[in-house]
Amino acid sequence: TSGSASTLQDYAKDKLSKQMVELFEECQQQACDLTRKETCRSRLQRDIQSVFPVARLYLTGSSMSGLGCRSSDADLCLVLRGSTQGSPDPIHILTVLQAFFRPLGYLEKIQLIRAKVPILRFREKGSGLEFDLNVNNTVGIRNTFLLRSYAYADLRVKPIILAVKKWARHHQINDASKGTLSSYTLVLMVLHYLQTLGEPVLPSLQKDYPECFNPSMEIDMIPEGPRHIPPYKSQNKSSLGDLLQGFLKYYSSTFRWDTQVISVREGKALPKNKSAEWRNKYICVEEPFERNNVARAVHEQMKFNTIKSKFAAVTPLLLTRDALTSRCVSLDLV
Ligand code: ATP
Ligand code: MG
Repeated sequence: TSGSASTLQDYAKDKLSKQMVELFEECQQQACDLTRKETCRSRLQRDIQSVFPVARLYLTGSSMSGLGCRSSDADLCLVLRGSTQGSPDPIHILTVLQAFFRPLGYLEKIQLIRAKVPILRFREKGSGLEFDLNVNNTVGIRNTFLLRSYAYADLRVKPIILAVKKWARHHQINDASKGTLSSYTLVLMVLHYLQTLGEPVLPSLQKDYPECFNPSMEIDMIPEGPRHIPPYKSQNKSSLGDLLQGFLKYYSSTFRWDTQVISVREGKALPKNKSAEWRNKYICVEEPFERNNVARAVHEQMKFNTIKSKFAAVTPLLLTRDALTSRCVSLDLV
């Protein structure tokens, strides 16, 4: 119908919005980037199956959700089924894999990282492509396809999230291993903001299509689950720049860090109850399937204060540098 916005340009009439479109077009993952990741995934799966015949390897994270940049790593989930009773010790599996990967010849810089979810981090020789491989952390497959559904529900989601990731990286608040925010937490924070606007840009997909995101769905069915969800028809016509500024403003003055929990599952902020999951936590962001806190890495008052100060700062000029192209892109936030 006449007057209805239907391309990204319709949301980008002002300078900041135009810059966001430019940043997005320059940095978003290209089809060839995904092909390279997929080729390496399938080669790895074939090789791993010579040690663990039942193993399956799934590409997850931003590479798969559509929220990645050209420089994003590739997250992999190794699913071991048919294993003996109980779940296999991931550290043990990753140690076996590490020894197995070394002589293969096409991987380098292989290191075991003993985090809460342990991972094997390595690079593909030549391309320099970085991989993070976990064992049986299948919630990552479920939430990747939930994020993917949000990424395609409205045209504005991808460019806003990319700008927020760049903004957070520029301000050094995007590193869970250093006590700040993981990319995953930032994405949920953006989705929550877009769900809770007076005129929402996004619905709660888990509420509207529960059967597509059933937490006990068979792993192989997950990618198919949300395939037929139609784009959400939002009445909100705000520009990209207004939404980016609104996001910063929401977290600097509207959202109550001390009493509220971000729930993308419910599509709203929930009151903090007294459960151990939320008690004494600076930032509470609910994992949409496991319902635990994805922002638990933020456990120092100082880091929390830094994060809040970045949201509150009125930064007239914000420089981000794309890791791949090394080209400076400036975003004017006034
Ligand atoms: P980037 O483009 O910066 O790599 P990303 O979207 O891949 O961002 P990460 O924070 O690297 O985000 O997380 C990768 C994936 O791992 C997420 O998409 C999600 O599937 C999963 N994940 C990360 N943190 C958690 C968590 N706390 N609980 C459950 N799943 C998580
Ligand atoms: Mg990633």
